[in-house]
Amino acid sequence: LLEMSHVKKTFGDNQVLKDISFAVAPGEVVSIIGPSGSGKSTLLRCATLLETMDDGSMAYLGKPIVTSRDGRAVYVDKKSQRKAMQIFGLVFQNFNLFPHYSVLKNVIDAPIHVQGRNKEEVCSEARVLLAKMGLKDKENAYPCQLSGGQQQRVSIARALAMKPKILFFDEPTSALDPELTLEILKVIKSLAEEKMTMVIVTHEMTFARDVSDRMIFMEHGLIVEEATPEAMFSSENERTREFLGKYY
Ligand code: ATP
Ligand code: MG
Repeated sequence: LLEMSHVKKTFGDNQVLKDISFAVAPGEVVSIIGPSGSGKSTLLRCATLLETMDDGSMAYLGKPIVTSRDGRAVYVDKKSQRKAMQIFGLVFQNFNLFPHYSVLKNVIDAPIHVQGRNKEEVCSEARVLLAKMGLKDKENAYPCQLSGGQQQRVSIARALAMKPKILFFDEPTSALDPELTLEILKVIKSLAEEKMTMVIVTHEMTFARDVSDRMIFMEHGLIVEEATPEAMFSSENERTREFLGKYY
């Protein structure tokens, strides 16, 4: 579904992604773990076209979005990029809802205005999604009237309303207290059970172990280890052990 090869990204003289290759197959749940500053968010931002890479290649559903030529990343035309952007959804740490839009409007806005879909149909789908997220009676509320956990569930509903083939999460619970964190992790887990393809950057190690088919441990802009949760948590790699040791 997604393939990234030899991705490199430098900010000033800070080489944040050194040579990252990874792929995600349909139905897979991949979590990315690693210390602060290791480049996890930058990688997600490159994958979701919020950031350009310097070199490397990337394809969604086999269609190249970036190719590498003479050591430089070459992006396809804007139209194909916009098309690719319909393939994924993104859920941020800080919810990023439109504060002046109601919950329902937050969810239906992009399907109507970006995808040009029928308003009635989008509204009825949005209500189903909101009910699924436990927000049945909140469609007229504004983000500021909701708890952090509720806001995050709205932003998950908003991402799902676009019918993405892959969903990216960048530390979806790090702005939440423990109880609300559990609430969001439960939602993500239920999406995994429905075989939603997901890439999750998280510091919630127990959750990552539970929900992932595969885990990627990043450090200093490189993938140190990529393994099943079982293999990752019984790794012989010294760096992996040291990192996971901080959590256990
Ligand atoms: P965390 O776990 O704290 O979220 P991370 O693994 O997501 O960390 P990144 O946010 O990808 O790390 O940042 C990696 C490095 O890139 C950091 O040193 C950061 O300061 C730098 N960086 C990220 N974005 C930019 C930017 N737009 N301009 C300059 N430097 C940046
Ligand atoms: Mg980050």
